[in-house]
Amino acid sequence: MILTTKQLTQAYGVMLQGLVSLDDNLRQGVLVYIESLMLEQGIKREKYLSLDDLNGHYPYVCMGSYMPIDFFNVDSPCSMAACNDQSFKPISLKLCTVIQNEHKPVHRWHTVGTFRCDDIVGAIDALLETLSNDGFFKQCVTCNTIRPAGYLGHDQVCNCCSDELLGVA
Ligand SMILES: [Zn+2]
Repeated sequence: MILTTKQLTQAYGVMLQGLVSLDDNLRQGVLVYIESLMLEQGIKREKYLSLDDLNGHYPYVCMGSYMPIDFFNVDSPCSMAACNDQSFKPISLKLCTVIQNEHKPVHRWHTVGTFRCDDIVGAIDALLETLSNDGFFKQCVTCNTIRPAGYLGHDQVCNCCSDELLGVA
């Protein structure tokens, strides 16, 4: 699967805002992989992603692995015995959706997918696809901040901006 420049740019923006948390087994390798995709497509950045950005404290997307992943030898067979088991999928991708329930946000975590250790590229593609999905993350038309879609009203204005407009803040 090849993501468009627009999709990659949006996914990058979500990650820059600290909305994503990757565990220690994935953080460094995923960052290197994403930076290489950005380079390949020649996408200019005002700000570069750091490892800290991928360790968000209030994440809406989490990806982790039960075991270390060898990012540089994904094509060679995994040496771990467990990986010979076709159903062993140590990598999991989770998404938190937000629904407004009588003006109070309700958060729910869902598993987007689980992946084999030799399918790390598939896992990263699924991560980027999730982050670039307008149904999950959208840019507020007032402050240009990318927010979980549930925080935007029908007018595409985020709750922070609409509170300000109403003088609540
Ligand atoms: Zn806003």
